[in-house]
Amino acid sequence: MPELPEVETVRRGLQPVLEGATITRVEARRPDLRFPFPEKFSQRLAGKTIIALGRRAKYLTMDIEGGPVLICHLGMSGSFRVETADGSDMPDIFHHDRSKSSTHDHVVFHVVSPAGASSRVIFNDPRRFGFMLFAEGLPDVHPMLAGLGVEPTGNTLDGALLASLMKGRRSPLKAALLDQRLIAGLGNIYVSEALWRAGLSPLREAGTIARPGKKAQAQSERLAEAIRSVISDAIAAGGSSLRDYMQTDGSLGYFQHSFAVYDREGEPCSKPGCSGHIERIVQSGRSTFYCRTCQR
Ligand SMILES: [Zn+2]
Repeated sequence: MPELPEVETVRRGLQPVLEGATITRVEARRPDLRFPFPEKFSQRLAGKTIIALGRRAKYLTMDIEGGPVLICHLGMSGSFRVETADGSDMPDIFHHDRSKSSTHDHVVFHVVSPAGASSRVIFNDPRRFGFMLFAEGLPDVHPMLAGLGVEPTGNTLDGALLASLMKGRRSPLKAALLDQRLIAGLGNIYVSEALWRAGLSPLREAGTIARPGKKAQAQSERLAEAIRSVISDAIAAGGSSLRDYMQTDGSLGYFQHSFAVYDREGEPCSKPGCSGHIERIVQSGRSTFYCRTCQR
């Protein structure tokens, strides 16, 4: 399942093709994905200019001139690719093992740039857990986006804000960090990574990093910094793999290489001076990877 850094990488890959472009035609090749397409889906997009391509948590938002905002979610297996009119493929905007089967090409956006270059932006989704919906007003109040917590990117999430979100919570720290109403778009992989960087156990009670005193204050500041840095490092890695992909044409399973704990059960902990090993435990039905020696 794509996590936030992958969705942001997709956004950055599509942005130069879509922003400012005019949609000439949209083909929706089936009536639904996870949900039915909105009424008059194609008609309402045809002839319109795309003002901006944004992201909120793991949702892409396409701001349409004078019209709705298109909210798009990649689901489990959704991906985009761009084909240009002269047949030279633009870099694939992909994640993990992208399906190359055209039977799963469900939506095709035909767009033309302000300079007159035509492209096709194709949404492929074998498992069809992805979706596209319209928000008529501000996307933030759409039921899909309303109630989402703070973004883990940028400088908003600092130690004080993180402490206020965790204050009084009895649940394990990992579970609280996965709660999308508190922090939006933080997933299983990056929570494990952030907790390792911060040296905090996924098992400790969430509220412990919000207790009065300098110790807890330092912990919440360390964790906020770790969350922001794992996400921004992954986005940077995604961006560089996009650039690599333009120059070669092999497939890249990106991000995996940069994990310190995720999927590394039994390996030595790579924190300087730590002699521990990475363990895998199961919390709320999902794998957690951590080092019990340096994460307390
Ligand atoms: Zn360790």
